[in-house]
Amino acid sequence: MVAHSLTSDAYPPAVDEGEKQRLVEVIKDWTVANGLTVRPPPTLVAVGADPSGVLATSVPVTLFPSPFPQVCFDQAKGVQRAYNELYAKVSQDEQFLSFIVQEVGDGDEFIANLWKVHCRVKEEGYVQDLSFGLFRSDYMVHEDPSDAAAGLQVKQVEFNTIASSFGGLSTQTCRLHKFLADTEYPYFKEAGVHTKQNLPANDSVQGLAAGMEAAFKAYPKSELDLETCVIFLVQDGERNVFDQRHVEYALGKSSTTSRIPVFRLPFSETLQRTRVANTPQRQLIYSLPSNPDKKFEVAVIYMRCGYGPGDYPDTNAWDARYHLERSAAIKCPSVLTQLAGAKKVQQILAMPKLDPSAPSELSRFIPEDSQAWKDLWATFTNIFPMDDSEGGQAARKLALDSESCQRYVLKPQREGGGNNCYKAAIPPFLKELPEAHWKSYILMELITPPPVNNIILRNGQLEQGGVICELGVYGSCVWNQRTGKILHNEEAGYLLRTKGDQSEEGGVAAGFGCMDSCNLV
Ligand code: ADP
Ligand code: MG
Ligand code: MG
Repeated sequence: MVAHSLTSDAYPPAVDEGEKQRLVEVIKDWTVANGLTVRPPPTLVAVGADPSGVLATSVPVTLFPSPFPQVCFDQAKGVQRAYNELYAKVSQDEQFLSFIVQEVGDGDEFIANLWKVHCRVKEEGYVQDLSFGLFRSDYMVHEDPSDAAAGLQVKQVEFNTIASSFGGLSTQTCRLHKFLADTEYPYFKEAGVHTKQNLPANDSVQGLAAGMEAAFKAYPKSELDLETCVIFLVQDGERNVFDQRHVEYALGKSSTTSRIPVFRLPFSETLQRTRVANTPQRQLIYSLPSNPDKKFEVAVIYMRCGYGPGDYPDTNAWDARYHLERSAAIKCPSVLTQLAGAKKVQQILAMPKLDPSAPSELSRFIPEDSQAWKDLWATFTNIFPMDDSEGGQAARKLALDSESCQRYVLKPQREGGGNNCYKAAIPPFLKELPEAHWKSYILMELITPPPVNNIILRNGQLEQGGVICELGVYGSCVWNQRTGKILHNEEAGYLLRTKGDQSEEGGVAAGFGCMDSCNLV
C-alpha cells in the first residue's frame, strides 16, 4: 500500500470547545460579509420568517481545508482542457448522441424530449453555429490496493455540461480558508498548513466570467440596433443565488471589456419576456419587465436551470426550451451539449476498461496515441451498461447480487443530486423497475477515497468526523459546431465539496455536503 498523509491524528488540529465557538463566530461573520451565503431554506420562509425575502444565511463549510494530494490536484487540473475539447467534440457528433438517445430514450422521457427539441430545430435549420460550455468534471481520489505503483490518482465521478454550480462560492471558500490560515495561524501551522504552498489560488469566478466574456464577444453582431446582453436563466425560488451573482458581478470587470448587461430571467417567464425576431437570423430579443419598450439582443443564455424534468412541468416549458434553442443566442448549453453530459456518454467512453476488445469510443474523438487520450483514459473508472448486451448482462448480475451490489452505484440520466441508488438499495430498486427501462441506467463502481477527518459547520452546529471529498474542476469552452474550430478553451478553477463519510450523496444544494478547499499534501 502507498503510504499517504491524508489521514492523520493531527488533522484537523485539536481545538478546545471555547476556541471552537470562537471560530464559529469568526466564520459566521466572514461568510455573510463575503457572500459565502444562500437564501434561507423554505422551512424558514414557510413560517413567515422572511416575508420580504431579505435574509441570507451562511453556506455549510469545513473549518479547515481538507488534505488533498497535490499529485491528484495537478492531474485533475491538467486534464481539463482535454476534457473541454472532448465534450465539445461529443456535442458535435449528432450520430453518436442519437445512438445514446436510442439506448436510453425508451425508459427516459426527459432525454427523449430533449432530443425532440434538437430535431425540431434541426428541421428548420440552426442559426447559431457557436456553442458555449461551462463544464465541471468531478473526481474522487482513488488508491488501487492491488497496484501500489499506481499511487494516488483521481477517478472521474461525472462530467457536468449544464448548470455546473458552486464556481461563485468556491473562490470565496478558498479565500475564507486563506483568511483563517492568516488569522488563526497557530492552528494551521499545527496542521502543517503554510498558506502559500498548501492553499492553491482558485479563480473559478474569474474563470467562468472569462468564458462568458469570450462567448459574448464571439456573438456575431446583427443589423438590429440593440444593445447586446447576457441572460442568466434561473429556477423559480433559487436559493443558491449568490453563487450565480459572484459570476455576474465579475463579468466585464476585466480591463478589456466594459460591463456587460446581465439579466436574471426565471425559465418559467421565458415566453413572456423574450421573443425570437422574425428575421432569417432569428435574434433573441429580451424586454425589460419594468419597461417593455426597452429591448436588448441576447448574445448568451447561461442556463442554471432546465437540467431535470422538474423544470418542465408542462408543454409551455418545452416550448420555451425550443424557442431558445432555435434563436441566435449562444446557448450555455445547447441541447446537444446538455445531452453530451449524459451519464450514458461517460459509460460508453469508458467501456473498453471492462472489455478491452471493445472499440475505444474515446478514439472517435481524441487520437489514441496522443497525451490527451492517455490523460483522459487515466481518469476513467469502471462503468457498466445496463442493457441486454453481454456487458449489460454481467452488470445486471452484479447489480442484483446482494454481495456484489455493495461495490456499485446505479445512476439514471439525471442531474442535480439525489437521483442515484446505492449498494444494497440496488436489487430491490431494480426489481420494482420494468426491465425494459433498466437500460436507461448505468452501473458504476464506487470510488472509495482514503479517509480524511475534518469539522463541518452547518447551520451553526459543528460535526466532526470522517469525511469524503469530491474535487470539481471547471472548464470553459467556446467552439463552432459546424467547423469544429475552438475559439476559447480554458481550465477555470476548482471546487472541493465534502460530505460526512456516512452520506452517499454529496450535493451542497441538496443539503448533504459542504463547501471546502484544498490543503495540498
Ligand atoms: P449528479 O449529476 O446528480 O450530481 P453524480 O454522478 O455526481 O450525480 O452523483 C451524485 C453523488 O453521488 C456524487 O457527488 C458522489 O458523492 C456520489 N457518487 C456518484 N458516483 C460515485 C462513485 N462512482 N463513487 C463514489 N461516490 C459516487
Ligand atoms: Mg451532475
Ligand atoms: Mg455530481
